[in-house]
Amino acid sequence: MDILICAACARPLTDAVRLMDAVPDLPPWDGSPGPDGLRRSPATMPRGRYAVQPDHRGAPFVPCPEEDEDAYDGIHPGGPWASDERGWLVSAGPRNQYVLHLDDVLPLDLHPEPLRSSGCCGAAGADGPNRVCACGAEVATLYADCSTPYEILFAPGAVRVVPAPRPGGPIPDHPRSCRTYE
Ligand SMILES: [Zn+2]
Ligand SMILES: [Zn+2]
Repeated sequence: MDILICAACARPLTDAVRLMDAVPDLPPWDGSPGPDGLRRSPATMPRGRYAVQPDHRGAPFVPCPEEDEDAYDGIHPGGPWASDERGWLVSAGPRNQYVLHLDDVLPLDLHPEPLRSSGCCGAAGADGPNRVCACGAEVATLYADCSTPYEILFAPGAVRVVPAPRPGGPIPDHPRSCRTYE
């Protein structure tokens, strides 16, 4: 089992999670609100697991290369379609982000820029990372809108994966840290 910690300050950001071979297929969803009344897809990830998303995800968005236009399949494969005056857009956001269920993530702060958390029924994640560590570092993008999957992605440069410590013990990778993992 692993945890993700902030690359800037080493704070734990998640509960203990186990790596999956691949991101699961998106669960089917008919668009109706869930038991919590929120209009969002069922979560992409099962609890207690994490996976690596190999595709580009999130901002910035750049024009689709001309030779790929005929095969355009959204801002990322299978994703929503988007265009501007330059034509179809594709994500040039980070690859290899860590995908988790939001309930496995310790409380994060909202990004101070309100636009980052904009969306229709929830955060659309289209304007860059929308969650920050307590130290202020941009660490994650929550997707929780009616037009997005329901998942949270941590950019690989913003976090480090370390073995999960025993409850109450020090973070093994930081022997001099006085912080303990709760
Ligand atoms: Zn931090
Ligand atoms: Zn909506």
